[in-house]
Amino acid sequence: MSSPLRLRLDGDALAHNWCWLNDMSGAAACGAAIKANGYGLGAAGVMTRLAAAGCRDFFVATWAEAAALMPMADGLALSVLHGVRDEDMAIANAISARPVLNTRTQMARWRDAGGGPCDVMVDTGMNRLGISAADIVDGLLDGLSVETLMSHLACADEASSLNALQRDRFAALAGRTSARRTSLANSAGICLGADYAFDLVRPGLALYGGIPRGEATGHIRQVVRPEAQILQRRTITPGETIGYNATFTADRPTDVAILNLGYADGYLRGFSGRGHALAGDVPLPLLGRVSMDLIAIRVDAAPDLREGDWVEIGYALPEAAAASGLSQYELLTGLGQRFDRIWA
Ligand SMILES: *Cc1c(COP(=O)(O)O)cnc(C)c1O
Repeated sequence: MSSPLRLRLDGDALAHNWCWLNDMSGAAACGAAIKANGYGLGAAGVMTRLAAAGCRDFFVATWAEAAALMPMADGLALSVLHGVRDEDMAIANAISARPVLNTRTQMARWRDAGGGPCDVMVDTGMNRLGISAADIVDGLLDGLSVETLMSHLACADEASSLNALQRDRFAALAGRTSARRTSLANSAGICLGADYAFDLVRPGLALYGGIPRGEATGHIRQVVRPEAQILQRRTITPGETIGYNATFTADRPTDVAILNLGYADGYLRGFSGRGHALAGDVPLPLLGRVSMDLIAIRVDAAPDLREGDWVEIGYALPEAAAASGLSQYELLTGLGQRFDRIWA
């Protein structure tokens, strides 16, 4: 069965983006955050392609996400960022992924169960997940086989004094634990410079075409291109309206194409009257409201487009974020299950 909407996924651009982030990180290894189904692209497809490019360290949020990636190819490591709950212990013992231990309770649970290789998250100022730096200095890691000690930056996509503060707090711990490696930077953190790289970086967004900071502009390539099929083409006369609540009124004869894409696919209503499709380089503006499964676009500039043809949806992430009011992260992770995902 084929779907009337699809994501064109550019494997070369994905590998290119990883290589740029890897180069930016100097001697540090470059991993990949593939949680939330590889930010909407499909975690397995992302992992295979990044492994071929040289990536060895992968990160998901939950054990269900980890289990879906088993068995993994030799030489690849997978870490589960949310650690282990009681409910996770059976699967955590059964598959070859490491928990990222975030709390004293998780550490005790893992140690009591035999304490295989694990990672540890230390909170350096975000106050989300992680144990305190003081706990680490007090020996909380003793007896654990810690592969990676990590922390996470709260404001790396901004010019914030918290960035250097978190880096300095984290650097003060390096060498004071038995952890084999240290890791701090996400995509935006990599752009902050070499003194944020430590031993391992963990980009997500920028791998998939997101621009986390100005430094990445011109280097990161678009990976995800949604395409939707035209279900109907019509011409409406001046004074006629389009769609729910009749928010668009034609002021001249207007050629319209109706596309199979809507907010149930993650193309949210923030794009109403603001999104566009593309015929080559020619933008075809969205007219009226985004419906659950449909949008309307102006196609006067594309006289040859007809029912059954495919059009690309404008989805360059910084521009689409500005148009829709959604973050680049939401634009990726919201992409729904009705797309066929096609790698090229
Ligand atoms: C999601 C996540 C990342 C990746 O962040 P991006 O901003 O997408 O690069 C890295 N580390 C942790 C702990 C995360 O949760």
